[in-house]
Amino acid sequence: MNLELCVLASGSSGNASLLRAGPDAILIDAGIGPKTTDRRMTGTGLDLSSIRGIILTHLDGDHINPAWFRVMLRQNIRLFIPRNQLKLLRRLARLEDVLKPMMQLTSLFDQEVFYPLPMVACTPVRLPHDKKGSFGFVLQSQQTRVGYATDFGRAPPELVELFAGAGILAIESNYDPEMQLQSRRPERLKKRIMGGLGHLSNTQALELVQRILDRTQAKYGPEHQLHHVVLLHRSRQCNCPIKLRAVFQTDERIAPILTLSHQFQRTEWLGAPDREALPGEQLNLFAVVAQ
Ligand SMILES: [Zn+2]
Repeated sequence: MNLELCVLASGSSGNASLLRAGPDAILIDAGIGPKTTDRRMTGTGLDLSSIRGIILTHLDGDHINPAWFRVMLRQNIRLFIPRNQLKLLRRLARLEDVLKPMMQLTSLFDQEVFYPLPMVACTPVRLPHDKKGSFGFVLQSQQTRVGYATDFGRAPPELVELFAGAGILAIESNYDPEMQLQSRRPERLKKRIMGGLGHLSNTQALELVQRILDRTQAKYGPEHQLHHVVLLHRSRQCNCPIKLRAVFQTDERIAPILTLSHQFQRTEWLGAPDREALPGEQLNLFAVVAQ
């Protein structure tokens, strides 16, 4: 079964990506509410009823919107969260008065493999981000390997090893260092973001993708194909698409397969090329705008 990724929203106002396996889908992060998600899914060929599970990278406010809890209970959507962030989930669920039933839907992970869908294995990798950290994932079906990592200040070697061989890479590229330093943000915030426990800069994101590509080549040979690199969590205040593209333009392996995600519009489905459209799906809807 082929896996495909569609980033519905990415940035500090809310993150959510859809991963599709046949008629079923899971969300990676649910930082925009169910209504916005439903609207954003228009044209994907799927709707809220296709969502079987939600995996959270971490529980910051831009990665989980508590309005999801009631929808999850209604539709029996399973939730997968990092074990070390259970307290936070309990607090959020208690505020919504759904603590007990939510706990029944919730599974905890650390670094062990779990299955958010029957034919899809998810391998988590711990990433440095603030106090509690964040998690990246490799989602793997028989045909496709997808690497997904957002909200981390530095890339550990395990991430490169795990993401090697992916056909689709979704990696955060948060800020341009010059714009960050010149911004009117408080010094403390700048330090947090740039200090190794915050976010990746454009250059750091490029270097990471290059390391993954090099490792892929060493492990699987030159014929292995990377189909898509999608950049996540671009700061609207301290980054800009032109600067970001200029950084990635320097590598001709990556430039032609690059997609920028957005805060307020979704990407198209990213997967292996030449597949058939789903019923109700508008192919290449944002191809022009997004480039
Ligand atoms: Zn975030």
